[in-house]
Amino acid sequence: MIKPFVPQLVYIEPRALEYPLGVQLKKKFEDMGLEIRETTSHNQVRNIPGDNDLQKYRNAKSTLVVGVRKTLNFDSSKPSAEYAIPFATGCMGHCHYCYLQTTMGSKPYIRTYVNVEEILDQAQKYMEERAPQITRFEASCTSDIVGIDHLTHTLKHAIEYFGQSDLGRLRFVTKFHHVDHLLDAKHNGRTRFRFSVNADYVIKYFEPGTSPLDMRIEAAKKVAEAGYPLGFIVAPIYIHEGWQEGYRQLFEKLDAALPQSARDDITFEMIQHRFTKPAKRVIEKNYPKTKLEMNEEERRYKWGRYGIGKYIYSKEEELELRERLESDIDKYFPNAKIEYFT
Ligand code: SF4
Repeated sequence: MIKPFVPQLVYIEPRALEYPLGVQLKKKFEDMGLEIRETTSHNQVRNIPGDNDLQKYRNAKSTLVVGVRKTLNFDSSKPSAEYAIPFATGCMGHCHYCYLQTTMGSKPYIRTYVNVEEILDQAQKYMEERAPQITRFEASCTSDIVGIDHLTHTLKHAIEYFGQSDLGRLRFVTKFHHVDHLLDAKHNGRTRFRFSVNADYVIKYFEPGTSPLDMRIEAAKKVAEAGYPLGFIVAPIYIHEGWQEGYRQLFEKLDAALPQSARDDITFEMIQHRFTKPAKRVIEKNYPKTKLEMNEEERRYKWGRYGIGKYIYSKEEELELRERLESDIDKYFPNAKIEYFT
C-alpha cells in the first residue's frame, strides 16, 4: 500500500502568503508538524540538504515548494491538448525514464502554485482566442498533479472550473491512486481523467515510488463510476522478454475491472519508449543500477526539437508494437478511441 505523499520539507515563498491558498497551506503543513522554511529566493531552495548529488536529488523529490507562478504563457502540449496548464512542477515518483529528470535539471523539487485564479484567468483568455473551437488543457505536463492534489486541492478546483466552461476541457494523467477527494467534484463530463498503465515488468523495474497497477485500476474504476470520461496512456511501451504477454495481461486486467458504462467513451494513447543522449546521461547518474536499456545502436534516431534527437524503436519493432497493442485494445475495448501512437 503506497501512502499519499507527505513532504519531508516545505519551503514557502513569501509572495505565496499573499494568496489565500498560500496561507491555508502554511497552516495545514504546520498542523501536520512538517518542517517549514520560508525562503526569499529560488537559490535558497536549491540548497536542498544532502551529502552528495544523489542524496540531494532524492531529498529534493520529497521537498515541496509553495510558490507563485510568474510565467503565465502556457506551452503547447501536442498531441494530447492545445495547452499545458501549469499548476505544479516536479514529482515525488522515481520513474527511471521520466523526462522531468532532464527538463527540471537542477531543481527536481516539487513546486505547487497558489495563484490558481490567475492561471485559470489565463486559460480563459486562451479559450476566448480560439472560440468557438474547444480548447483542451493538459494539467500533467510538468508533474503528476494527482499525486499532490490531496494536499492542495488545486486540481479539484480546476476540474470544477472547467465543469462550468463551455469552451474548455481539462485532462491529466496519473500513476497514483489517491483520487477519493476528486470523486465528488462537479466535472460535468468536461475533464478526462487518465491513468498511466503498463506491463508488470515496466512498473516493477522502472516506476518506484508510484502506485501499483492494481491500485491504479481500482482508482480508474471509481473515477469511471463517478462519471468522468476515462482514458489510459500506455507509456512507455517497452520491449522486454515476454512483452506480448505482459501487455495482453494488462488489457485483460482492465477489461475485468472496468464497468460497462465507462467503455463507450474511453481513450487510449500510446507512447513507445524513447530517450535522448542527455536524458541517458542523467538517468545513469540518478538511477545508476537501472535495467532500462538505452543502447543507441539498437534504436532508430529521430530528429527532434532544438536539435536534440531521440532514439526510438526500429520501424519493424514499432510496427509490431503498434499492431499488437491495437489489436489487444480492439479485442477488449472495441468501442475505445485510440488517440495516437507515437
Ligand atoms: Fe515522472 Fe510521472 Fe513517474 Fe512522476 S509519476 S516520476 S512525473 S513519470
